[in-house]
Amino acid sequence: MSQDNMKIPQATAKRLPLYYRFLKNLHSSGKQRVSSKELSEAVKVDSATIRRDFSYFGALGKKGYGYNVNYLLTFFRKTLDQDETTKVILIGVGNLGTAFLHYNFLKNNNTKIEMAFDADPKKAGQSIGEVPIYSMDDLELKVKESEIEVAILTVPAGPAQAITDRLVDLKIKGILNFTPARLNVPDRVRIHHIDLAVELQSLIYFLKHYSDSDVEP
Ligand code: ATP
Repeated sequence: MSQDNMKIPQATAKRLPLYYRFLKNLHSSGKQRVSSKELSEAVKVDSATIRRDFSYFGALGKKGYGYNVNYLLTFFRKTLDQDETTKVILIGVGNLGTAFLHYNFLKNNNTKIEMAFDADPKKAGQSIGEVPIYSMDDLELKVKESEIEVAILTVPAGPAQAITDRLVDLKIKGILNFTPARLNVPDRVRIHHIDLAVELQSLIYFLKHYSDSDVEP
């Protein structure tokens, strides 16, 4: 996201890709305008929140008319920097990392894994899904010449912190951490932690211990 959008509340910023995806669908079905009520039903966000979210970008909607789909779409595309592909790196080409290299992130959002790294000399030098895999020894060199700012971490927990320290020194700004390790980074680096095993366990726990009516979204 560009610097101009830094003042958007984080909760609003998190909903932008959701709005964007729905508007893209509306646009391809030929719809020219949409009310906040329709939007609300489709994305499951209440219409007052939608109006407040949109108000951060100026008066985009008109009473009785709704929102112009084309205008909104152009606006969101720019806001989310969808005109430009964001390149990321992946570290750790094991089972999970390999799946990500095969997965086409470009299909739903403009992100692309540009290159991968692994400590295993048998993996370095290969490519998966057209993504080249390099040795960890080349991390500094390759990242410096690429200007990449986001990394996906799919290594075991053990080496995760040491790799993170190298990424921090390389001025990486965001890390999507799939390792079970809790990582220490300076404030300027943002980490999103996704532990698939914990998520699955917590889903099962909720199903076992709470009835439908108790489950919060
Ligand atoms: P595999 O079956 O290929 O070992 P896995 O997902 O079960 O996959 P993990 O032990 O989780 O294996 O390791 C994931 C990947 O991280 C492996 O490809 C491994 O070579 C790589 N890896 C391990 N340590 C490091 C490290 N210090 N730096 C970079 N990559 C590493």
